[in-house]
Amino acid sequence: MTTIRLEEPGRFASLECAPPAPPQPGEALVRVRRVGVCGTDLHAFAGNQPFFSYPRVLGHELGVEVVAVGPGVANVKPGDRCSVEPYFNCQRCVACRRGKANCCADLRVLGVHVDGGMREQLVVPARKLHPSASLSLDQLALVETLGIGCHAVERACLEPGEFALVIGAGPIGLAVMQFAAERGARVVALDVNAARLDFCRRHLGVPHAVNGADEAPLDALRRLTGGDLPTSVFDATGSPGSMMEAFNFPAPGGRLVLVGLFQGDVTFNDPSFHRRELTLLGSRNAQSADFERIIGLIEAGRIDTAPWITHRAPLAGVAGQFPAWVRPDTGVIKAIVEV
Ligand SMILES: [Zn+2]
Ligand SMILES: [Zn+2]
Repeated sequence: MTTIRLEEPGRFASLECAPPAPPQPGEALVRVRRVGVCGTDLHAFAGNQPFFSYPRVLGHELGVEVVAVGPGVANVKPGDRCSVEPYFNCQRCVACRRGKANCCADLRVLGVHVDGGMREQLVVPARKLHPSASLSLDQLALVETLGIGCHAVERACLEPGEFALVIGAGPIGLAVMQFAAERGARVVALDVNAARLDFCRRHLGVPHAVNGADEAPLDALRRLTGGDLPTSVFDATGSPGSMMEAFNFPAPGGRLVLVGLFQGDVTFNDPSFHRRELTLLGSRNAQSADFERIIGLIEAGRIDTAPWITHRAPLAGVAGQFPAWVRPDTGVIKAIVEV
C-alpha cells in the first residue's frame, strides 16, 4: 500500500506500507479516492505550521469508499462513498458532552495530529463518515473545506438581508461567502488581491467586492451599507493586522467571527468594542451537523462546487506538485489529489 509521507518541511517520501488491520468495533476500513489540499497542508510543507510534528501523512479533506466495517457499525456499509469528518474527539470532555466535538479538549485532527489520508487505505471511526449516494468523489472531498465556512456562518446566526462582510478571499473566505449567501445575507468581500476579488464576483456571484489596496475599507463599507456598516463580519485571513482591524467594521450590535487564526495575541480597543456592544466569536473546524447540512445542500443544488477545483495530481505526483501549489501566483484555489 503506497503512502506519501511528509518527512520534514519540503520533503515527501513514498513508502510501501502493510495494509491496515481489519476494522474493530465501531470502525470502518476505507479506500481513499480523493484528498483535498488546503492551507494547513501547504504550511506544513513550507515548515511554518506552528506545533506541527514530522514525519506526518497529510490529508484531512477526503472522499473515500467504504471497504469493510467492524462489528456494530450501522451508519455505513461496504461500497458507500463518504466524506470524512477528520476531527477525532474524546467523547468525554465538557465540549464533547455539550455536542461541540469540533473543539474537544483532546481533539486529534486527521492529517494534522494523527496520520491522514495520503495513502490508499485507512481505518477511521465509522461515526466520522458521512455518506452520499449522489455526490461525486471530488465533492465529497470538498465537504470539509466547505464545513469551515458553514460552521462560521452558523456561529453568526445570520439573518436574511443583513450585510455580511468576509475579509480574505482564500478558500476559507470563499466557503464563508457561499454559506452566507445561502443564508440570504448580502455578502461583501474584502481582500487586497484583485484576481481573488474577481473570482468572488464571477464564480460565487458575490455582489460587493472591496479592494483594500485601492480604497479605505471603512469608507467603502459605509458607502455600500448606506452608512450602517455590516452587522456581521468574518475574518478569514489569519493575519494579525487584518484581525485587529476587523474590530472596526461591525455595526453597533453586530458580531465579529474570527475564522482564521494565528499564533499570537489579538488586541482591541475596549471602549470601541463596548460602545457598539459587539459579539466576538471564535470558529473552529466544523460539526457533524455541518457535514450533513452541506451534503444536503450540494445534493439539492444549493451550493455549487464547480468553481473550486483548480489543480489536480495523482498520489505519485504530490511531491512534484506541492512546491507549485504553495506559490500564490499559480492561482490555486483547491488542489485535489487522486489516489
Ligand atoms: Zn483543510
Ligand atoms: Zn472531547
